Amino acid sequence: MNEIKSSNTLEEKLREFTPKQKKLIFSNLGSMQLTEGCSIGCIDCGFNAKKGIRDYIPAEVILNIFSKIPKPAAHLMCLYYASDPFDYDFDGMNYVNIHKKAEEMLEKRIYVSTSIPKGKEQLIFNLLKKTSSNIVNRISLTKFNYKRIENALSEFNFVKNKPQFQSNLDTFVRSNRISTRILDFYNDINRYKIGDKNKDSLGEIGIGCYNGTLLTPKGV
Ligand code: SF4
Repeated sequence: MNEIKSSNTLEEKLREFTPKQKKLIFSNLGSMQLTEGCSIGCIDCGFNAKKGIRDYIPAEVILNIFSKIPKPAAHLMCLYYASDPFDYDFDGMNYVNIHKKAEEMLEKRIYVSTSIPKGKEQLIFNLLKKTSSNIVNRISLTKFNYKRIENALSEFNFVKNKPQFQSNLDTFVRSNRISTRILDFYNDINRYKIGDKNKDSLGEIGIGCYNGTLLTPKGV
């Protein structure tokens, strides 16, 4: 991913706000989209993520913003949106580095769900193996990634005898983590666009329904 250059647009856009407005933006930060686009590229993405990474927020900008957020960051939920956190890997900083900095600087537990981008399988499996790392909360499995992940799991010898993948992975991510249910979700119900209400037993929950400001590589 080193050939991708940051547009540095976020920094420029933030200059358009007054200090008072910036304070409001930072203190209400709900999420930061570290990268624009998603390497997974599910054709039915509920967030309309564009396939492929095309921009990112430089690490120094991210850390500078963290330093301006009142602690603990009351509204911050995660560091991705229409993107996968583990696609962040630029200028010597990967998602794990940013995540650790965020939790340390913001005194806040940051939620992580990943579809395991290609090339990041071993890194993520190793994180899941170490209960002490406690970074990944959830894995999304869809028909667009589960074969690759299944192959990677057996290649790295995380799964012996290769029985049914879903139960393997559920066991793998159990303990204090939330096991994935996305495969069922994918098979059982239609995917919904942002803001739409689910029409089944999941009730009134929509994809990405939470309050707060969003920073992206392109602005606020
Ligand atoms: S992994 Fe998530 S964000 Fe990426 S394309 Fe698929 S549904 Fe969209």
